[in-house]
Amino acid sequence: MQQLRRILIVGGGSAGWMTAALLARLFKGLYDIRLIESEEIGTIGVGEATIPAIKTYNDLLGLDENEFLRRTQGSFKLGIEFVDWLRPGSRYVHGFGVIGKNLEWLRLHQFWLKQRAAGSTVPLDAYSINTAAPPAHKFMRARTDMPASPMGQIAHAFHIDAGLYARFLRDYAEARGVRRREGRVASVQQDGTTGFVRAVAMDDGEVIEADLFVDCSGFRGLLIEGALSTGYEDWSHWLPCDRAVAVVSPRTDFPPYTRATARPAGWQWRIPLQHRTGNGHVYSSRHMDDDTAERILLVNLDGDPLVAPRRLRFTTGRRKLAWNRNVVAVGLAAGFIEPLESTGLHLIQSAVIRLVRLLPDAGFDPANIDEYNRQTQFEYERIRDFVILHYKATERDDTAFWRHVRDMDVPDTLARKIALFAANGRIFREDEELFAEESWIQVLIGQGILPRAHDPLVDVRSPADVAAYLENIRGVIDKCVALMPTHADYVAKTCAAP
Ligand code: FAD
Repeated sequence: MQQLRRILIVGGGSAGWMTAALLARLFKGLYDIRLIESEEIGTIGVGEATIPAIKTYNDLLGLDENEFLRRTQGSFKLGIEFVDWLRPGSRYVHGFGVIGKNLEWLRLHQFWLKQRAAGSTVPLDAYSINTAAPPAHKFMRARTDMPASPMGQIAHAFHIDAGLYARFLRDYAEARGVRRREGRVASVQQDGTTGFVRAVAMDDGEVIEADLFVDCSGFRGLLIEGALSTGYEDWSHWLPCDRAVAVVSPRTDFPPYTRATARPAGWQWRIPLQHRTGNGHVYSSRHMDDDTAERILLVNLDGDPLVAPRRLRFTTGRRKLAWNRNVVAVGLAAGFIEPLESTGLHLIQSAVIRLVRLLPDAGFDPANIDEYNRQTQFEYERIRDFVILHYKATERDDTAFWRHVRDMDVPDTLARKIALFAANGRIFREDEELFAEESWIQVLIGQGILPRAHDPLVDVRSPADVAAYLENIRGVIDKCVALMPTHADYVAKTCAAP
C-alpha cells in the first residue's frame, strides 16, 4: 500500500457509526471514508446502558450532552444495582466514581472493614454519593464549583436508545463527509499472495476498493472471519450465558441506574429511558430453554410489552486478532462479553481511539498491528475477569447454573485478585485496565468476599477516630442526597426529549 487514503467501514450499527463519526471528526477530510450498511440485514438493536467513559467519546465529537440525551431519549446512570446475585434477597450497587475520601493512603473500605468487625451494620453503599443516591432516585450532575464535596464527585453515564444514537451519529458523520452506501456485501476480494482484502463486491455488482477495512458487520465478522478466518477464542466455559431475549415496555418509575436481577439460569436487565424501559433476559441455553427464558422475562416486566420479544444468540469470547492484515474488527465482530457491566459500546469507543493512535500512514507495519492486538487482548481479558467475578463469588446453589458458576475454575488473573482481596482487602489496578479499584471493591464486597483482616495501617487511627471519620462522610453524603433533585425532575428540566 502507498499512502493510506481510502477507509471502508462495513456495517452501520453502533460500531460502524461510532467509528465513522470519530474518524470523520479527527481526520477532517484527510481520508476518503465510506460506510456500507444493509437495512435488510439490520442491526442487533440492543445496547442501551453505558459507562462514564462514553463522555470522553462524546466530548471528542464535541457533542452537547443535553442535545445528545434529547436525541437518544436518554437518561442518567449512576451505577448498576445487582439484585439476588449473592443470594436471593441480597442487593448492592456498583456505583461509578469514588468511595468517600481516602486516609493514610488507604481506601475507605479498609476503615469500613474495621468498623464492621466492631459490629457496625452500615453498608458500604452509604459512603459514596453514587451508591447512596440511587435508592432515592436522586440525580444531578457533579458541581464543578465544589470539587471537594460529594456533590462535586458525582460520576455519571447514560442509558440511551442505541438505534437513535446510531442515527444521531450517522447524521454527524455524513455532515462531515462520510459517504454511506446502502446494500448487501455479497463477497470479499483478497490479494492472492498477501491475503490482504482488496475490495468488497456488492450484491448489485459494484466493487468497492479501499486501503483499510473496518469490519463492523456484527457477530458474523464478514471480513475478519468470513474472509480472513482469523479464529475466535471461546470463553463460554467461564461465561456460559449464550442467549438473550429482549423486549421494551412502557416507562414506569425512572431510577438513575440499571438493574441486573439474577434469574435461575442467568439474569435480567432493566434500563429506564425517557420514552420506554428496555428489558432483557440473558441466559445459558445449557440450563434453560428459550420459551422458559422468555416467559420469565415477560412475567417480570413492569407493564405489558410494547413489541414482540426478540431472541438473540452469542458466544462470549474474542477474535484471536482484532487487527488482521488490513482489516480491523470493531464491535461485535471483534468479540463479545455479556452486557452485565455495560461494556459493549465502551469496547467500540476504545477500539476506535486505539485505531486512531496506531493508524498507519503508509504500508502496514507489524509493530502497529501487534501493539493494537496486545492492548485489545488485555482490555477484553480484564473486563472478562470482572464479569466472571459476579458469577464466581456467589453463595447461590439453588440451580444447576449457579452451582456450576460458583464451582468453576476461573482465569489465574482473576483468582489472584480474589485471593489478594480476601487476605487484607487489597486491590491494585493494573496498567490501563478499564475497571478501577472502586469498582472491584464494590463488587467483591457486594458478592460477599469479605477480607479476613483489614490493612494494618488502619490501626494507626484509634477506633473512635475511625468511627468519627466514617460517620462524618456518611453524614455529608446523606445531606447531599437530600438536597439533590429527583432523576425525573432533573431530566425534565435539562434534557427532556421533545
Ligand atoms: P450490529 O448492530 O449487528 O451491526 C452490524 C451491521 O453490519 C449492520 O448495519 C448490518 O446491516 C451490517 N451488515 C452485516 N452484514 C452485512 C452485509 N453482508 N452487507 C452489508 N452490511 C452488513 N452494549 C452496551 O454498551 N450496553 C448494553 O447495555 C448492551 N447490551 C447488550 C445486550 C445484548 C443481548 C447484546 C447481544 C449486546 C449488548 N450490547 C450492549 C452490545 C452492543 O449491542 C453492541 O456492542 C453494539 O450494538 C455494536 O453492534 P455492532 O455495530 O458491532 O453490530
